[in-house]
Amino acid sequence: MNQITNRFLELFYKISKIPRESGKEKKFADFLEIFAKENNLEFYRDKSNNVLIKKSGNKENNEPIILQAHIDMVCVKKENSNHNFELDPIEIVKSGNVISARDTSLGADQGIGLAIMLLILESSQIKHPDLECLFTTEEETTFNGAVNFDCSKLNGKKLINIDHCKDDSIVIGCDADICNKYTFKGKLITNNISAYKIKISNVKGGNSGVEIERSNKNAIIIIAKIIQMLQNEEDVLICEISGGNSEGDIATSCECIIKTKIKDIKDKIKQNFLEDNIQIQVNKTFKESSFTIEDSKKIINEIVNLKQGLISDKNNIVTSGNIGIIETEKNKVIITGILRSIEEKELQKQNRENYLLSDRNGFKIEEIYQDAAWIPNINSKLKENYKNIYYKVNGQYPELEITHAGLECSCIAKRIAGLDMISIGSIIENFHTVNEKMYISSCEKTIKTLLAYLGYENN
Ligand SMILES: [Zn+2]
Repeated sequence: MNQITNRFLELFYKISKIPRESGKEKKFADFLEIFAKENNLEFYRDKSNNVLIKKSGNKENNEPIILQAHIDMVCVKKENSNHNFELDPIEIVKSGNVISARDTSLGADQGIGLAIMLLILESSQIKHPDLECLFTTEEETTFNGAVNFDCSKLNGKKLINIDHCKDDSIVIGCDADICNKYTFKGKLITNNISAYKIKISNVKGGNSGVEIERSNKNAIIIIAKIIQMLQNEEDVLICEISGGNSEGDIATSCECIIKTKIKDIKDKIKQNFLEDNIQIQVNKTFKESSFTIEDSKKIINEIVNLKQGLISDKNNIVTSGNIGIIETEKNKVIITGILRSIEEKELQKQNRENYLLSDRNGFKIEEIYQDAAWIPNINSKLKENYKNIYYKVNGQYPELEITHAGLECSCIAKRIAGLDMISIGSIIENFHTVNEKMYISSCEKTIKTLLAYLGYENN
């Protein structure tokens, strides 16, 4: 390992000690402020805790370049872990080339991007043009950081986003998405029918835009299908249902309390839903009230029929859906889900179908956000130059990719006329899960390529 990689890792470890859950990035922004002061760098911090750090270039061609990555990370932990994401450092586990975390998500998404920017900002040896390093907040939830950032603070017309999860491709576009909240208000009744708690856990999960093939194994969907099967046999009353973490991620666990007269419920479920690794627990419990039979049917019908998983894949236009969170608050069931597609028309069509379904089932829809697509720019000079430098450094060309997952690029591009963008990154496996992994050699490759690009005279 060379000196640069070593320093990169030190910075990554340092970053991992600072809590940075979405919406709680204050401590990290404080750290960035101190970092900028210590390194005599100009900085700007806003109310959303976005931080922009500028550094003057040290080479001939000085057209400014914006580097950007998000501060926040998805915080998930193993069920028996008592890790406190507001206080505790992420515990790093290094095994040869592989880095993971003990019992929690790692935050390589996008601790890698953060560490790369800090590495360049603090260095007195790396050659680069004027740099504008933008650290944004709440990427994993609402994009509020990027949405609220005052882009007039930026002079660059070229932006390299570091939020990709592969090192053999660069991203030149991304899909649009719509996030909705679906709320059902029902009637609660009481009776003395037996209650059971069904719990699904250990589902693989991941980002629904990246791991589309896994998205039908969503814990919320699995539990709804189990209940639907039971409903076909006998009345089932739902008392409460909850699961999932974020609208964009495949739910890894879900639990539902039901009331039913079915006797051998445990066996029935296990016979019909035997899946490798997925854990199903059924336990007798007590619950006073539940939704009515009719309401329970509507709730299950809504979950099972909302657009989920791969919806269509025509001419490279992938459209998908994900139910990310379900919660019960007294007599309300609230579902939060997302739809993704690069084609606006297709996205709106699927959204309309969700509206029709929800209308039939008595669910009210509230739109939480919509992000526009980043439509690839075929004349991008940045893409062309980066591709060529990539070839020089790595001996082969990167693939050019339009990602199905959302990126902050489209949000920023809306406010900077003529902004040229690409997104790069290193391999991150199973991000947004407790099995998140990164590879030192892959980070090394990305750093080498980026530094070659920044040092190149004709970019
Ligand atoms: Zn990310």
